[in-house]
Amino acid sequence: MSKKLEAYYGLPSEVKFCKQCVMSNQRPRSYPEFRHTTDRKCPTLPIDDDGVCHGCKVYVNKDLIAWEEREKLLLQLLDKYRRNDGYYDCVVPGSGGKDSVFAAWLLKYKYGMHPLTVTWPPTVYTSYGYQNYLRWIDEGGFDNLTIRPNGRVHRLLTRLSIENLLHPFQSFILGQKNLAAQVAMKYGIKLIFFGEHEAEVGGNDIADTFSPLRDKAFFTKEDLEGLYLGGVSLKELQERHGLSLADLYQYLPPDYSELEASGIQCHYLGYYVRWIPQEAYYFAVEKTGFQARPFRTEGTYSKYSSIDDKIDDLHYYTTYIKFGIGRATDDASQEIRNKHLTREEGVALVKQYDGEVPHRYLKDCLDYVGLSVDWFFDHCDKFRSPHLWAKVDGEWRLRHTVWGGGVDD
Ligand SMILES: [Zn+2]
Repeated sequence: MSKKLEAYYGLPSEVKFCKQCVMSNQRPRSYPEFRHTTDRKCPTLPIDDDGVCHGCKVYVNKDLIAWEEREKLLLQLLDKYRRNDGYYDCVVPGSGGKDSVFAAWLLKYKYGMHPLTVTWPPTVYTSYGYQNYLRWIDEGGFDNLTIRPNGRVHRLLTRLSIENLLHPFQSFILGQKNLAAQVAMKYGIKLIFFGEHEAEVGGNDIADTFSPLRDKAFFTKEDLEGLYLGGVSLKELQERHGLSLADLYQYLPPDYSELEASGIQCHYLGYYVRWIPQEAYYFAVEKTGFQARPFRTEGTYSKYSSIDDKIDDLHYYTTYIKFGIGRATDDASQEIRNKHLTREEGVALVKQYDGEVPHRYLKDCLDYVGLSVDWFFDHCDKFRSPHLWAKVDGEWRLRHTVWGGGVDD
């Protein structure tokens, strides 16, 4: 190839795959969603000169962790915050997936804490996802505070995030990231526990996983300047779309100074306790009767991860369009690191399932935001970066794939 092809979103123009897992260097790292503009350049997952990605390196480090020592640190923390005066002592956010069950159960029944669980509900609930949410609360035995957002506002923000960013999951992520801190501040609860470390799933700096604390840049703001929802500035949302700041309250992070003054600490339970998705699944089945999806999730081979929102399936399809990375790539990379799959098996699964169109729920999701299926597929084509995609005989194909079957491989 003589001519260098344009790379959208600030992605590296040369596509590389990790030699240990199946992830590529095109994967964006975690980024505060309320800073996500249409011309954002995203930081991506580094792959070092030895050919290994930082996701894999973080995992290797986990093998070296003295988990008994980490548990002692957890016990010290919990002893400091545990209350026996009949009030809550920690907030556990979740929507009833396997990880929410794992976190809330351990804190309450193993460590004697008194959690208030909080839920920002999925945008378009699946029926079995909703049943799992009920089981979490009813069978698990936890108090729960659910904030269901204004449906008109949520629908509008979800539509804008598809139109401007091809990012249908954004309105959910925004609320999910902010809600725990908002509730903790209002209820005077000083400790928040998130589950799995974002540095592991988000591929952030390896140093991040040496800290149990969640980076406040992800869930606080200094002021209202430079905040965007659905790729639209707050000013424009108010002036052009007729929304008030109160309509947007649930989507905006709390003030940094207020959160600092409140003394609230936000920890990853995954820093203290070894977190393995497959084991969290078996745990949730045993403790609350958690049920997997009754069929394979489109775009991957699994049945039990992130199954409560129909929009999640669409979300992974859009990451395949924008970054060439679908859900099977994500799932297989994690399982290779956990040694539940070999790399060879992972490559085969990616080849078979990555980028599969999520037909089952596609129309439900698009009906929700009032967009048509034909419009959606035309729209997707605008987000295909030339360095990733080529049109061959009228069909879009990836230029590079992990199994070496791409147009330019
Ligand atoms: Zn890797």
